[in-house]
Amino acid sequence: MLSPLVATLGVVAVAMSVATSALVRWASHARTGLSAGAALFLLAMMAAMFGGAVLYFHDPGTASLVQGLWVASLVMSLSVLPLFFLFVRDARQRLATGTVAPLGRLAPYFAIAVALVLANELLMGWAFTLAAGGSLGAGGGLAGAGALLVGIVASPWFLFTMALEMALTAFLLRERLPDGLQVILYAQAAIMFLSPTALPGSLWRDVAIYGASAGMIALVVYLMEYLYRHRELNGLQARYTVRLLGVYALMMAGLFLWLRYGSVALFALSVVAEMVLYFEAVLGPERFRSGPPFAWLEHAHWAFALMLNVFLAELFMGALLDVAAEPGVYGPAFPARALSGPWPTALGHAVSNGFWFTALVTGSTWFLLMMGLEMGALVVLKLRESKSLENRIRLGLLLASYAGFAVFFPSLYYRMLWPGAPAGPAVPFLGWSMGIGSAQLAPTLFGAVFGTYLVTGVLATLFGRRAICSVFCTAPLMFQGTTIDAMKSFNRTAPVGRHYLSSRLSKTYAATTSVVMASLVVASVVSYLDAVGRLSLYVDGVDPTVFLFSLYFGVVWYVMFVAIPYAGTYNCVTMGWCYTGTIAQAFQRVGFYRLKVRDIEVCRACTTVDCARGCPVGLTDMPGHFRRTGEYRSSKCCGVGDCAEACPYGNLYLADVRHWIARRLGRPLAPRRGPRLPVVPAATGPKPAAAPTSPVTPPVGTQGARGGAGTRLHEATEVEPRAPAPSL
Ligand code: SF4
Ligand code: SF4
Repeated sequence: MLSPLVATLGVVAVAMSVATSALVRWASHARTGLSAGAALFLLAMMAAMFGGAVLYFHDPGTASLVQGLWVASLVMSLSVLPLFFLFVRDARQRLATGTVAPLGRLAPYFAIAVALVLANELLMGWAFTLAAGGSLGAGGGLAGAGALLVGIVASPWFLFTMALEMALTAFLLRERLPDGLQVILYAQAAIMFLSPTALPGSLWRDVAIYGASAGMIALVVYLMEYLYRHRELNGLQARYTVRLLGVYALMMAGLFLWLRYGSVALFALSVVAEMVLYFEAVLGPERFRSGPPFAWLEHAHWAFALMLNVFLAELFMGALLDVAAEPGVYGPAFPARALSGPWPTALGHAVSNGFWFTALVTGSTWFLLMMGLEMGALVVLKLRESKSLENRIRLGLLLASYAGFAVFFPSLYYRMLWPGAPAGPAVPFLGWSMGIGSAQLAPTLFGAVFGTYLVTGVLATLFGRRAICSVFCTAPLMFQGTTIDAMKSFNRTAPVGRHYLSSRLSKTYAATTSVVMASLVVASVVSYLDAVGRLSLYVDGVDPTVFLFSLYFGVVWYVMFVAIPYAGTYNCVTMGWCYTGTIAQAFQRVGFYRLKVRDIEVCRACTTVDCARGCPVGLTDMPGHFRRTGEYRSSKCCGVGDCAEACPYGNLYLADVRHWIARRLGRPLAPRRGPRLPVVPAATGPKPAAAPTSPVTPPVGTQGARGGAGTRLHEATEVEPRAPAPSL
């Protein structure tokens, strides 16, 4: 229940927020030096008023009241001087030229306006906290001042009024804000409002943590989808997006530190950073329309910053949710080796802490659930665009597999079965971890682990590695959402990624795969020998297979995910550093799976090679094989099916055991789904040259084009292959 004093202060705070928002709107509309100066003057007056109030409430009495009034009057008197000079200057200009020069450099003006808004908020938060009878600590020196500022920023008087001002400002400026920016600004205001430090008590803390996390997940999905739909941004918009995500990474880290260790400083810093970013944006919203164009898929560094900030925000949000939801399990589990002693020791401890923190969080239920919601939403958006029923079914299975094998079984179900299980456990023999990563390979587990490999082998033999790499594994959920999928263009342009194009298995690829497989064998043998008491060899205190799994899938996987702009998408497949994928690809080599075309002639006449462009693994040599043999086999192909979707003639399909059986039974192929067939060379025209076998990298700018110079289009009625039927 609010006391009358607090209720009164609340009403005053709302009124002040309205006034500040109106002043920000004024400042944003200012076009001359005089109007800008007037806006700044009024903001300074408000700051002076709050400063006087702080003096009074700090030590209420007649003397402090007089002091407060003096200080306020002095600031007001001084700040009126620049306004007077501006007035005189404008008047002279008007007399001399009949007009007034527009406001010159905007950046310093915006900086002063934002600084005054921040000063207002800090002083108001301070004054109101004191007036409400709260305390903000009383240390001296720099540390005391820092603690005071942190206390003010973390208080409800700062956070709630700031959130209200943000929402009001966005509303008042709505007509000048681009649509996308408006949504983002409202979301920022909502997330600011849901600050868990604002009120005491576990109810508000939980509402705020879960609410802010949900808001941030929704915002990230919105931003990612926006990027997918707008390949060309405005330069300022691009900068704002990355900075905002950076601020949210900071905010989530701050909230984690606050909840786990009681330190609120980083959170307070992130709130100030967000506030500065926000008001700097709303003061000149037109810049978001008129800035230089920015084709973000051509800027690897920018895309890397985006991915890094998104991942860091998710990592710390996962850690925050872990601690909030299961404090008994995760609270004590975070590594905390002392960062003291000689520097090599301290450095080693820091690396170990960072490694195990990342591995613990990325393997935790809440992180996986949150990633599932975020990346899963992008997969759902892609599913809606997918034209092929087979691909839609695969994407549906992928979502169900993630929910089942990444979240429900390893965490929730396992926890239900064994309530006292340690943090971050995984069922030792279920799922794509293939028995590695949860415990020592005790002899009792061999049957289950062997069964997992058997199932993997059978599935990969019958349906190709797509059963693992495009359905069961958690990776496809991350890779196949709309925006991340769009980043497959980096496979062709990225400095590292482009060396892994085509189905060629380079020396680097072979070396990487050999090291990964050797590490798997060595770790498994050592783990077994440890389990039977023949050895006692552990890595950083844990079983070698647990370490290996944490290394590859808890840390390296996410490092490489963030590095997509440099290494390309699906780099676990293209670079061969995943042992699960390598095992599955071995079975694929001898299995039924391959890509086939319905009509070789269609491919021979095709000038767009959209299939190669659509491939997220960068298998650019497939058209050459289609033209030569009508089919394509690559151990790197993980059966995403984007190539078949991309073929404008519906000429391509993914063949597996089902097609083999159908052919044996004499059943026809499913009808093509392409709208038109095809580009066929003119009867009198030259025969296409022998099919190229080298990788095909289509020229930039032909994506989505239909047909080409010198070809004649007609719709063919024949769908089934005219070439000799391939062996399936
Ligand atoms: S290669 Fe490995 S990590 Fe990548 S999709 Fe396949 S199983 Fe998953
Ligand atoms: S886009 Fe279609 S027609 Fe063209 S090469 Fe690829 S599979 Fe053949």
